[in-house]
Amino acid sequence: MRNEKIYVTRSSMPSYEEYIEAIKPLWDSRWLTNMGRYHGELEHRLREFLDVPELSLMVNGHTALELTIQAMGFPEGAEVITTPFTFISTTHAIVRSHLKPVFCDVKPEDGTIDETKLENLITERTAAILPVHVYGNVCNVEEIQRIADKYSLKVIYDAAHAFGVTYKGKGIGSYGDASVFSFHATKVFHTIEGGAASFSDRGLYEKLYNLKNFGIRGEELVTAVGANGKMNEFCAVMGLCNLEHVEEAAARRRALSEAYERGLREVPGIRLFEAKPETKRNYGYFPILVEEEYPLSRDELYERLKEKGIHTRKYFYPLTSDQACFKNRYRDVELGCARELAERVLVLPVYEGMERETAERVLHAIHTD
Ligand SMILES: *Cc1c(COP(=O)(O)O)cnc(C)c1O
Repeated sequence: MRNEKIYVTRSSMPSYEEYIEAIKPLWDSRWLTNMGRYHGELEHRLREFLDVPELSLMVNGHTALELTIQAMGFPEGAEVITTPFTFISTTHAIVRSHLKPVFCDVKPEDGTIDETKLENLITERTAAILPVHVYGNVCNVEEIQRIADKYSLKVIYDAAHAFGVTYKGKGIGSYGDASVFSFHATKVFHTIEGGAASFSDRGLYEKLYNLKNFGIRGEELVTAVGANGKMNEFCAVMGLCNLEHVEEAAARRRALSEAYERGLREVPGIRLFEAKPETKRNYGYFPILVEEEYPLSRDELYERLKEKGIHTRKYFYPLTSDQACFKNRYRDVELGCARELAERVLVLPVYEGMERETAERVLHAIHTD
């Protein structure tokens, strides 16, 4: 097994029998989508599990993000302050909603948006702040809310990495005006493809319902212009099955993360992000920062691990603001820290079914030089 390839993640799955048994009723009902029984059940269960007042299930995280932005009704061309240190989906959702991203730098200690730099970026065109709980690291939600209140801005969190995370005893999705989760196959909880928005305003539930179901409100009645963002029943059942095992999977990832932490704490030039106090983490990702003192550069370490069959990811490099489709198109803001993190970060393999000895193999490859 020493040479078996190791990937950065591997989807969790219920047993084959468990899923097959759970989807059997669909052959009788023939109700495969359009807000069926399992869609309703999963919405309910997730509202409880995530500890959020309202939740709307969606076909994927990106659609949840776009539709949530659209439900807010911002004027065309309005500015949204966001982070470039994220998956490209965050920036795409803003631009595809005919809004302008204004990139804000991030903090070295956890990679989340630097709230001390927000106020300088606010103009009379600013409509919203769209931060990301990157790797499940919790943003400074209190300070972001204070600034948003002061300037009457909406706050939408990209919480795609933060499933199950709590802060000060509350579900992470209960902060801000809305939060968006991804249930993509590679995330810590998945429905194959899927996502959700959480929020407290019941009016938003109705708006999102229209947006995800063509605005249809009756057999002959369409009241709003909407897209198709519904989750189907097969995906909802996968979610219900996975939800049964989600705590156990988190415990497994936690043990692996702690082994990594112990093994890397003393390695000169390897830095880890800091966890915020009063946070329950989900251990979904294990990012490391390869600093000057380490004998290899980040890219050299990436290559060296790859030669040993260990596939890590340069998440998130390049910054979304530096991608070909966005480069030099938006306000030129100093992004020194984000750029530095993008040059130094490497995400190590961690997933539910990963063996302890696999983590040891990764550690060994980082140690020897
Ligand atoms: C995965 C992800 C998304 C998009 O979610 P999908 O379910 O893949 O559409 C958005 N933002 C971030 C930060 C993500 O990691």
